[in-house]
Amino acid sequence: MSKKSGSQIELKKSVLEQCLCTGCGACVGLCPYQVIYADRTVQLFNCDLPDGKCYAFCPRTLADYDHIKKSLFNINDLTPEIGAVKGYYLSRASDPRLRLKVQHGGTVTALLELAMGEGLIDSAIVSSRNEEFEQEGRLVTNQNQLRGYSKSWFTVSPTMAAFNRIPDDRKKRTGVVATPCQATALAKMKTAEIPGYSGSDLPGLVIGLFCGWTLSMEKFHNLLVRYGASMADLTGMDIPAGKNILEIFTVSGLISVPMAKLDHCVRTACRYCMDSTAEFADLSVGAARFGTDCEEMRGWNQIIVRSDRGKELFELAIAKHALEIREASPSALRELKNAAAGKKKKALKNIVEKSHSTKNLLYLQNDDPVVRKYLSVDKKRKGKS
Ligand SMILES: Cc1cc2nc3c(=O)[nH]c(=O)nc-3n(C[C@H](O)[C@H](O)[C@H](O)COP(=O)(O)OP(=O)(O)OC[C@H]3O[C@@H](n4cnc5c(N)ncnc54)[C@H](O)[C@@H]3O)c2cc1C
Ligand code: SF4
Ligand code: SF4
Ligand code: SF4
Repeated sequence: MSKKSGSQIELKKSVLEQCLCTGCGACVGLCPYQVIYADRTVQLFNCDLPDGKCYAFCPRTLADYDHIKKSLFNINDLTPEIGAVKGYYLSRASDPRLRLKVQHGGTVTALLELAMGEGLIDSAIVSSRNEEFEQEGRLVTNQNQLRGYSKSWFTVSPTMAAFNRIPDDRKKRTGVVATPCQATALAKMKTAEIPGYSGSDLPGLVIGLFCGWTLSMEKFHNLLVRYGASMADLTGMDIPAGKNILEIFTVSGLISVPMAKLDHCVRTACRYCMDSTAEFADLSVGAARFGTDCEEMRGWNQIIVRSDRGKELFELAIAKHALEIREASPSALRELKNAAAGKKKKALKNIVEKSHSTKNLLYLQNDDPVVRKYLSVDKKRKGKS
């Protein structure tokens, strides 16, 4: 049985001291004891409560993630590689002016604009850069301001802290843009069993982002300095198909950093992360980095429709011409699933290396069917070699 509740001290021992903290912000904004400093989660004071929301909401505390998934999605839609799939398409915003401002096809921003415009949500939590060029969650209540918070920044955004700070009745009407670990935290908020707390109808909508990793602020800053740039110079970032580089757009031009030179900047917690497609979101959106014309595909997204609420919004987006879609080829879905399975295997390998045992999988249960599937693949391989 997984442990459903725990204290701040247990959070410290099992997550912060184990370098498992993803920086999601789900334990911050609930009380004065937990804060974000730069991109680190810091415990300012010791708290003596035995059961806390900080522990219960954290995506890296031990929980029955299989049970959470089965309670939130249709069991028949579940796949081991990428979670629930009701539909899989290529999409982009129909508005060409929006497409000029966004990361790829602008699917995320177009969906948020539509959900707000149609009154499905009345606010959204997105990510914004502060004066120190750190990412932070931002509550947007005006639909016309959403375009100002588009594009992807590959340093961590403690977005969940901003969500925690809004009143509970507003949370139900708020849409959240979330990386996979943040979408997991939101699922735990929804299903947490804490006396006097009910999160079952929060939040209003979760739009997930595909995610391979995020970068440590300090290490990324040092890397930029070596390339003669600074955080203040950045105008955008992207990972183009098939080139194995990170493109960093700056006020003085493009910097291309080979992935091998970037590896040491990846946050340690991301090495233990199994989810690349935000499996707990209503809809998940990523790059469409494949096909014959990679440059053209840069302006498109892959989208996975997961929940009934996600399906309703997606169908509305087609009906209202907020999104254009293309049918995705079976090979595109296969490619996505293979990449997602690859991340799961790698994370499990790193987890076992860290714990020195397949019986102790840190925040994962070893009877979880997805965990068993990808652990056993590794075991079979080892048996053969
Ligand atoms: C850290 C990170 C890693 C990613 N890794 C991959 C990957 O490996 N493969 C892949 O296919 N796609 C990845 N993506 C997703 C991809 O970069 C795009 O966000 C996605 O394709 C949506 O594109 P869009 O044009 O619809 O986005 P837009 O319409 O431009 O909207 C992007 C949204 O993301 C929010 N955002 C920006 N930075 C962050 C952040 N750091 N944390 C949380 N929210 C943020 C913005 O506020 C905005 O709401 C990653 C995104 C992030 C933030
Ligand atoms: S148990 Fe509650 S009050 Fe204590 S640190 Fe955690 S969230 Fe804050
Ligand atoms: S809730 Fe998020 S920020 Fe807090 S300890 Fe867990 S992973 Fe880190
Ligand atoms: S790789 Fe995983 S842990 Fe790291 S930011 Fe992305 S979702 Fe969170």
